[in-house]
Amino acid sequence: MTLDRGRLAALLAEEGQRFHEAHPRSFALYQRARRSLLGGVPMHWMVRWAGGFPIFVTGGEGAHLTDVDGHRYLDLCLGDTGAMTGHAPAATVEAVRAQAGRGFTFMLPTEDAVWVGEELARRFGLPYWQFAVTATDANRFALRLAREITGRPKILVFNWCYHGTVDETFVTLRDGHAAAREGNLGPPVDPALTTRVVEFNDLPALEAALAHGDVACVLAEPALTNVGIVHPEPGFHAALRELTRRAGTLLVIDETHTICTGPGGYTRAHGLDPDILTLGKPVAGGVPGAVYGFSEAVAERVRARSRLETADTGGIGGTLAANALATAAMRATLQHVLTEASYRRTIPLAERFASGVEGVIAEASLPWIVKRLGCRVEYWFRPAPPRNGGEAAAAVDPELERYMHLSALNRGILLTPFHNMALLAPAVTEADVDRHTEVFRESVRAGGLYR
Ligand code: PMP
Repeated sequence: MTLDRGRLAALLAEEGQRFHEAHPRSFALYQRARRSLLGGVPMHWMVRWAGGFPIFVTGGEGAHLTDVDGHRYLDLCLGDTGAMTGHAPAATVEAVRAQAGRGFTFMLPTEDAVWVGEELARRFGLPYWQFAVTATDANRFALRLAREITGRPKILVFNWCYHGTVDETFVTLRDGHAAAREGNLGPPVDPALTTRVVEFNDLPALEAALAHGDVACVLAEPALTNVGIVHPEPGFHAALRELTRRAGTLLVIDETHTICTGPGGYTRAHGLDPDILTLGKPVAGGVPGAVYGFSEAVAERVRARSRLETADTGGIGGTLAANALATAAMRATLQHVLTEASYRRTIPLAERFASGVEGVIAEASLPWIVKRLGCRVEYWFRPAPPRNGGEAAAAVDPELERYMHLSALNRGILLTPFHNMALLAPAVTEADVDRHTEVFRESVRAGGLYR
């Protein structure tokens, strides 16, 4: 079975025209934006949206958002996880409103911070916490502390990871060696000098890389989510923990996306035991906020190396970190929104989504598969699950991806602009999921993509 590239190009052109015609106001705003915003967008990634220009949003509520052209979309992108709770969750909105009238930021803690620290300790099993503004920052600070307390220069990541704009992590394996990732703008140093990189699920390579004795920490998503979903193989996490411990290397688990697994992330659902854990994006319901937590042993080593007089120097700050507004949003989100009950709703929705898409794939005999992690689902243009990031990246087909996204967008469904990921918010209904299945069916059946 081969993909008909000519047919795909024709379909993509049709969908592109349809998108353009249906979005005159977004297009006009985009044209205006090109005079004041680099690339016509406020943030560079937004150039990746499938229509050639982004839709401009007027508002979002629950699982839907609306645009300036009057369209209403089922949002399965959810701000690439930042709005995994659904847009404007009532309890978070209420807490933000209340705090807004009492001030945003003080450089002093509020009682909410203590509540959040206690709740995070309960959820993730790590006793001590710090706040940051973004998951990127939480990861950067975790790396700095890991280097500081181990006295080691390098970190280790898995091939095709993503942990935010963290310099050390923009690295991939090229011919078996670490090399700067394409698109890495202005690296301060060659990431091959700072970072060891191995494939996910490759324990012998991991052991060999750690044997150099120069790795401060492994920074890992417990399942890869940023090059599609790649699950760990049985025994992988136990071995990762054992090997890092033996090598004197700390284990940093980044739960920013895998919080889709459950209220305590993948860590709690699978009994992981990291030294440091980082989490951002949905932790404050979409208000910028992030956290990172430590084991007792790590906290003790950090304490032993910090001095009161220089505590404002150390590269782990951020004036706005732990601001009162984000902290209030975190408390409300953890208490009322990102709860057990919410996952009891979203995980079955994701299962329904997966089986709907699987049904269409079977009907159309497509060489594709579906992977799911909690309330996150992804379909792949390959017949078998990838074992690691390298295999996953090789299956990326930007043209086919763009067609699937644009076709969905033109039919009222928003997917993330990167790979084929859908997140299910608690406000999604079964009918919404079935509507996606119909749209997916329509997209793949359109004129026969395969010959
Ligand atoms: N960690 C992971 C696993 C992520 O996927 C991302 C963003 N996609 C980040 C960290 C960084 O998040 P932010 O851009 O909000 O800093």
